[in-house]
Amino acid sequence: LYSLTTRASLPRNMIENSMFEEEPDVVDLAKDSTAFPALEPDEVVYEPRSSRLLVRGLGENDLDDEEEDYESSARLLGMSFINRSSTHNPSSSPYNRQAPPRLCSCPSARMLVVGVFILVLVASMAMALYFLPGCTFTKAGCGKANSSTPMEPSYPNSTNGELFPWNEIRLPASVRPVNYDLSLTPNLTSMTFTGRTVINMTILHDTKRIVLHSSELIITKATFQVSVEVKVLEYKPWQQIAVSFLEDLKVGQVCVLTLDYAANLSHTYDGFYNSSYNDKTGAKRVLAATQFEPQAARKAFPCFDEPAFKATFLVRITREPGYITLSNMPQVLCVCVGLLEDEFEQTGVNMSTYLVAFIVANFTSITRNVSNTLVSVYSVPEKKEHTHYALDTASTLLHFYNTFFHIDYPLRKLDLVAIPDFLAGAMENWGLITFRETSLLVGNQSSPLDKQLIANVVAHELAHQWFGNLVTMRWWNDLWLNEGFATYWQYTSLMTEFPQLDLGNVFLGVRFKALAKDSLNSSHPVSVSSQVTTPEQVSEMFDSVTYEKGASLLLMLKTTLPDGQFRKGLIKYLDKYRGSNTVTEDLWNSLTQVGVQESVSDMMRTWTLQNGFPLVTVSRKGGHVTLTQEHFLLSADNATHTSNLWHIPVTYVNDSCSSAPSCRQIFTVKWLKFNYMNTGFYIVHYGDEGWATLIDALKTDINTLTPHDRASLIHNIFALSRLGRVSFRQVLNLLDYATNETETAPLTEALSQLSSVYRLLDKRQEQRLVARMKVYIWGHFGQLMDSQDWGEEESVSKQELRSVLLEMACSLGRQNCTDQATALFDQWTNSNQTKPIPGDLQRVVFSTAAQSDLRWLSLMEAYSSTTYDSEKRKILQALASTQDPQSIVWILSTGLEGGIIQTQELPLVISTMSDGFAGHLLVWDFVKENWDRIIEKFPVGSYPIQSIIKSTTSQFSTQTHLEEVQGFFSNLKERGSQMRSVQEALETIRLNQLWMDRNLPTLRIWL
Ligand SMILES: [Zn+2]
Repeated sequence: LYSLTTRASLPRNMIENSMFEEEPDVVDLAKDSTAFPALEPDEVVYEPRSSRLLVRGLGENDLDDEEEDYESSARLLGMSFINRSSTHNPSSSPYNRQAPPRLCSCPSARMLVVGVFILVLVASMAMALYFLPGCTFTKAGCGKANSSTPMEPSYPNSTNGELFPWNEIRLPASVRPVNYDLSLTPNLTSMTFTGRTVINMTILHDTKRIVLHSSELIITKATFQVSVEVKVLEYKPWQQIAVSFLEDLKVGQVCVLTLDYAANLSHTYDGFYNSSYNDKTGAKRVLAATQFEPQAARKAFPCFDEPAFKATFLVRITREPGYITLSNMPQVLCVCVGLLEDEFEQTGVNMSTYLVAFIVANFTSITRNVSNTLVSVYSVPEKKEHTHYALDTASTLLHFYNTFFHIDYPLRKLDLVAIPDFLAGAMENWGLITFRETSLLVGNQSSPLDKQLIANVVAHELAHQWFGNLVTMRWWNDLWLNEGFATYWQYTSLMTEFPQLDLGNVFLGVRFKALAKDSLNSSHPVSVSSQVTTPEQVSEMFDSVTYEKGASLLLMLKTTLPDGQFRKGLIKYLDKYRGSNTVTEDLWNSLTQVGVQESVSDMMRTWTLQNGFPLVTVSRKGGHVTLTQEHFLLSADNATHTSNLWHIPVTYVNDSCSSAPSCRQIFTVKWLKFNYMNTGFYIVHYGDEGWATLIDALKTDINTLTPHDRASLIHNIFALSRLGRVSFRQVLNLLDYATNETETAPLTEALSQLSSVYRLLDKRQEQRLVARMKVYIWGHFGQLMDSQDWGEEESVSKQELRSVLLEMACSLGRQNCTDQATALFDQWTNSNQTKPIPGDLQRVVFSTAAQSDLRWLSLMEAYSSTTYDSEKRKILQALASTQDPQSIVWILSTGLEGGIIQTQELPLVISTMSDGFAGHLLVWDFVKENWDRIIEKFPVGSYPIQSIIKSTTSQFSTQTHLEEVQGFFSNLKERGSQMRSVQEALETIRLNQLWMDRNLPTLRIWL
């Protein structure tokens, strides 16, 4: 699944934090370090914290036993391991060696800060607790069990009042589906459908029941085996149906259950849903399509709707003439009597229910053969001309993945289909990938930046055909195995195959975004061990942590391993688990099997099983460099203390060495920059002196560091100011170098950070500070803004840069910018849109024009008439950026209603409006007033809801707003109060509040 996000970055939360209570762990770099993973022993001295662990209710435990574990794990990493003495003085340990002489013969590129492996302990405790009787820790103790009454599980009531024979939200493991035979007859006039599902199953354990999923289907008849009519019970809250038997179904037995049913085509965006569009004559055309991930296959046919219940599928669909049908497999047969019945080949591979798909529509396509696979791109007929770029890209990438993964795409055809109504960005259904029109269609004349988006989505979905479809996570708690990989490959494949698209900068921005989300207490581990069972909890897994942190961790792992090892491990993983399901541990095992040291699994567990990421603090005394680590946690109340620690693959460059893997010297250098190219998922604090030497170095020669390293410094210092470790004055000190900056990555980061500060001040109506902030921005970047060219530009990187610069300039009202933008707009309208606006400048031009009433109206006209989807989306953003309350209210209600503005665009409209002053209060009121209608369209917990909550609340910074947001959501009860994004919103407002309290005085002095 590809979740669409707007390019404009959302403001990040801001905060200071108190010091941690415990001493962090220390790695002494004076011993210099050693290459990872080819570590030589005894080069880094590791001192674990004074090993104490607090377990609630059990008091303090000394970890003496566990220290041995840490020691062995450190030995594997080739590190000597010592217990920290009470004085924390390295030299007091008998194991601690003297600092090597200056001619140090054993220096290295990368170092490792080893975290204490508390997880081992936690895991073993959890195991112990699991196997202990439940009464062990109760006051009464276990006593003697009351043996006369064996525990009877309590079952809920079915719809008809009878007891439902199952009482868990997850299905029993006693029955396994083998094949589904699906026949569907949709009626696009009445918007209903009927279906027959024949499920072949095997019995894995003796059982008296078959339990499966069904939602909003009316079962009209149920037959067991050939002809035995059986009664179906339904338990609606868990969307389950069941058939009970008097005698056990025996293990190994093969069973057939046939279910006939009827249902309405869904009016939301999931299940088997109806969609429509107006063709070029203005006539309304209807179609039906599916979106099943994560849990909506059960709305189209009764099934075992969990990813681990893989089976084969045979699909038949009845249609009227004038329509075509599509499904995962190629069509093999058409029974052409009366209504036409198309039959599709049975899937040759086992697949999860969420990957099944079918479409009935009047689409047309273009096609190409790529290494024995027929690749096609489908769209509504009038947009056929916009499908070529997608076909080219998909063909190239299919070839790339086939070669790279050493496993050919297993189906004979691959369809990419643009659906007029589609909520997500795209969905990776096996062989039938569905897209939003804006994620697939692009005119030939469109700018490379528009094409970059299409390439991104196509690359993501194609990667899923291996990571997700061929090998699937066992349950949604490990969704990152699907989405982290697809996100990682989306950037990596494009960097290899389409270097001109400049994805390196985009991927860097993605890592920054993941760090922002993961610095909050409401974040979650990439691989979740706590409960993920309810539909809301499952939906919530589709978030930035799963996608973007997941991808960032894979990049870190890849750069840590020797060349080729990562790929070898992944090929092993895909080959071993093809057709089946995995958990995170299976991935580490596959890596270990190709010769990657076991320590890599130990390292990665510290990143995937716990929240958050580390802050590494560097301190230098003479030739002595010490690194310490602690959890980088933004917290407004100091209440949460975590003892999380990580195995950190540390890299650095310095003034004598500019390429991390070969850097050796650490003692006599002037400056050190850690986390080379920001490929590690951590933030670094250099201390006052460390920062000063880096700033000096940059002021002397900007090219001292790579653009990504410069962006990394800017990102890190803003983050540290939120944590309260550096003052805002230090932030501004670093930014002084940026008057000489011309590269996209650092400038984008600086402007995005500054604009989030600006927007917060603006929303607080701190008018004087807002004015001074503008002066500051003009002072640092004004010249660069004014010197941007407004003509056609080839380089994607330059396009990215100028759109960021000009969007900021114009939105802050810089005359030079608004004049140029308005002139381009007028030229475009006066020429009847024949004098085109360069694609990357469309948004700034349209948004500037939208601030005048007259031009807003002509934009509205252009919006209804354009057939170019990327242009249309930019016009919509411009329309939504208006400051006119009446227009704002009109757009919101039209968007909710659907029609001229499609409901699928509501999250984009809301996030655009939230940035403006007039919009942000109106939008919050709108969301409150229309909450129930909004969650009818977008399910609670889903990505669009996460986005709506975040954009409407993340710029509040007052107590009044905090209480209002808290009050609103707590009143919702099961309609959304439990969402993680609500916790995130409250945390963010508190952090904003605190940031204001602490930094307004500084800003008044220093800005
Ligand atoms: Zn995806």
